Amino acid sequence: MTSHIMPTYGRLPITFDRGEGAWLWDDRGQRYLDALSGIAVCGLGHAHTAVHAAICAQSKKLLHTSNLYGIAVQEQLAQRLTEKSGMDNVFFCNSGAEANEAAIKLARKFGHQSGIENPAILVMEKSFHGRTLATLSATGNPKVQQGFAPLVQGFIRVPYNDVAAIEQALAQHSNIVAILVEPIQGEGGVNIPATDYLNQIRTLCDQHNILMMLDEIQTGIGRTGTFLAYQHNGILPDVCSLAKALGNGVPIGACLARGKAAQILTAGTHGSTFGGNPLACSAALAVLETLDNDDLIALAAQKGDLISAALTVALHNNPHVVDIRHKGLMIGVELDKPCSELVTLALQAHLLINVTNEKTIRLLPPLIIDPQQIEQLVATLAMIITEYTAATL
Ligand SMILES: *Cc1c(COP(=O)(O)O)cnc(C)c1O
Repeated sequence: MTSHIMPTYGRLPITFDRGEGAWLWDDRGQRYLDALSGIAVCGLGHAHTAVHAAICAQSKKLLHTSNLYGIAVQEQLAQRLTEKSGMDNVFFCNSGAEANEAAIKLARKFGHQSGIENPAILVMEKSFHGRTLATLSATGNPKVQQGFAPLVQGFIRVPYNDVAAIEQALAQHSNIVAILVEPIQGEGGVNIPATDYLNQIRTLCDQHNILMMLDEIQTGIGRTGTFLAYQHNGILPDVCSLAKALGNGVPIGACLARGKAAQILTAGTHGSTFGGNPLACSAALAVLETLDNDDLIALAAQKGDLISAALTVALHNNPHVVDIRHKGLMIGVELDKPCSELVTLALQAHLLINVTNEKTIRLLPPLIIDPQQIEQLVATLAMIITEYTAATL
């Protein structure tokens, strides 16, 4: 059958029909364990009753008006997000790339207001910030940029987890107005920086009076064992972008700002037709409420430790496993050579995983994963890694 969908994705030969918690069923009724959550989106798992109830109730009242008017549920969500993050205000949009676009525009305007004509944003190698023209230009992956020149100007790139390189760039370029960085690189291979990396960036941003902008699109909403990953460091950024798990599958993005960054995007300087509409905001409110009510963020930290420890035991004598690393339920298992075939082998074993940066198996299970599912995840993954490395390496 010919597909009428533009071929932007290489898709696996499977179609899911329904889900419940960490389980998915395909269109032939076969059950799979989801250890990817639609790439860190369905943190509460599939068909969560609180999200379901919230969007049903909201859809009976009102789906959309416009940001030309007040939107009560958007105000409530902004209040909850600022309480939970320590930030001051929020711009709502519909995706991660859009949240980063808002951050990039905000940084440029901040620069112009400080008399910098040609503002630049410091970004990292191996970063991922999205697929729009500005965000792919910020992204540190040549494959993402290939074929789309001329790129958006105004990005200066340094290696990730290298404070000296940031210091050097700041000394060299007087037009840097912001640093945009992921607390943990997701697409780049589950790269966890030194514990004080974000603290050092905070200090440098204060010293140079520039904006610290964190892309928490993948790390946020409880994934790493705190609501936002920067909360492990006891710091606050000036700008923070969110999306993915915020709506548990209902598209929503958010750009949070604080202090001097909070009053830069003013009336007429930015906007979105759908951003912060009642449907998306009611889903996100239900997500935040459920995380708190069920204590899911503390559990994410424990479950991540458990999975990582169990994988370490199961794979301890496999010399092809180079590293097992995690923060909460953001887990990477790095092998000593490319292993993207493991995605198909896992699928055949009814387990959904992902491989990033060629050699790193990435697990992003839903925060509601239960002990039996954790056991199954570890056993299945250890089995396929063992078989794969024995057969091919
Ligand atoms: C997924 C992701 C994005 C892009 O989000 P979209 O909703 O696909 O536009 C940006 N940054 C990071 C860190 C991401 O993981």
